[in-house]
Amino acid sequence: MGNFPKENYDIVIIGAGPSGAATAKYLVNEGFNVLVIEKKKLPRYKICSGIIFEKSQEIIEKHFGKIPQSVYATPNLLKGVRLWTDTKHFSDWPFSKYAGAPNIWRSEFDYWLIKNSGAEIKDCCLLNGFTDHDNFIALKCFDITNKEIMKIKCKYLVSAEGSKSVIRAKLDPEFEKDINWFIAYQNYYEGICDLDPYSYHGFLEQQYSNVYAWFSVKDNLLVFGIAVKKGNKVSPYLNKYTEMLEKRFGLKLRKLARKTSCMGNNMCATGRFYLGKGNILIVGEAAGFLNAFGEGISCALTSGLYAAEAISKSIKHGGNALETYTELTKTERRQTRISWRLGAKVAGRELLPI
Ligand SMILES: Cc1cc2nc3c(=O)[nH]c(=O)nc-3n(C[C@H](O)[C@H](O)[C@H](O)COP(=O)(O)OP(=O)(O)OC[C@H]3O[C@@H](n4cnc5c(N)ncnc54)[C@H](O)[C@@H]3O)c2cc1C
Repeated sequence: MGNFPKENYDIVIIGAGPSGAATAKYLVNEGFNVLVIEKKKLPRYKICSGIIFEKSQEIIEKHFGKIPQSVYATPNLLKGVRLWTDTKHFSDWPFSKYAGAPNIWRSEFDYWLIKNSGAEIKDCCLLNGFTDHDNFIALKCFDITNKEIMKIKCKYLVSAEGSKSVIRAKLDPEFEKDINWFIAYQNYYEGICDLDPYSYHGFLEQQYSNVYAWFSVKDNLLVFGIAVKKGNKVSPYLNKYTEMLEKRFGLKLRKLARKTSCMGNNMCATGRFYLGKGNILIVGEAAGFLNAFGEGISCALTSGLYAAEAISKSIKHGGNALETYTELTKTERRQTRISWRLGAKVAGRELLPI
């Protein structure tokens, strides 16, 4: 997607997830010349339960419009989260304000968002390195399709790279050393299960997952997963969880459709946000924005919009974008920290013990 881009941009955004799309949308609307670079081919797969919570719905409606039917999975709407303290007892947390929370496929949803941003998009392109000069940032990217190095200049660089950020690691190797990591595993199966398909299920017992184990349904596929601290073996947890679902909820697996995993970290739960340096701003999960139980689309969108607002103000009226961004995200950062404290209360234990 995208022809060979120009050499100069006002803003280059690395990553075509929701935080990148929100940053791009705002900045394009402000009249800037914006390029989004994405390493994968779009539409790209993203491991996710794909539930659009109320706050995300409101931001999307306001900035991008109505979510198109084509990105929905069945069931289209989920009525709430069901949290199981053991295999008999649960509490229900309904999605109250609207008819329910959209149950979407991230590949199609994220693709819709990024196309809707109006920015220039270059996929199959990997950021390899960058150098920060006085009045511009020089980027070196690798065009995977054409197997060539691309050199691009911009005034502002935004990392919307998700939890593992090359930019954050380069800006502050010391900060990176203190981050702890977990691996999330999610499998998609054809099969049957008695669990209510209109709820998103979370199992809190730590014998199934270091964080929590989850289950939902998408287009007749059973989607379930666990997360373990980096270095821990996955199979003891996943096997126990699968056996429990078989015995207690009549799980019968027919065919594996997809097996996936990704890395996440504890920046969010420890409140260690990293918002950037100089004219380089970091948004979404790369900055540490991820709420309890792994809800991250709302804060990805919010932080992206704030970074864009800060950059726009700085270019148009002067002032320091990073300082403005830091100020604008104060409440969002507090809410993220509070969400983990509330999550721990609900779970009766630390939610991310890694
Ligand atoms: C198992 C699981 C279930 C989840 N379920 C939900 C849910 O139901 N609802 C919810 O709200 N949140 C959920 N989340 C959280 C949510 O997926 C993330 O918080 C959200 O995707 C973060 O958005 P982002 O834009 O910051 O990063 P991402 O969506 O991760 O996007 C980052 C993009 O940057 C690209 N990229 C990275 N590095 C480079 C590079 N060097 N060069 C070029 N491109 C690069 C990546 O390929 C990717 O496309 C879930 C997470 C997990 C792991």
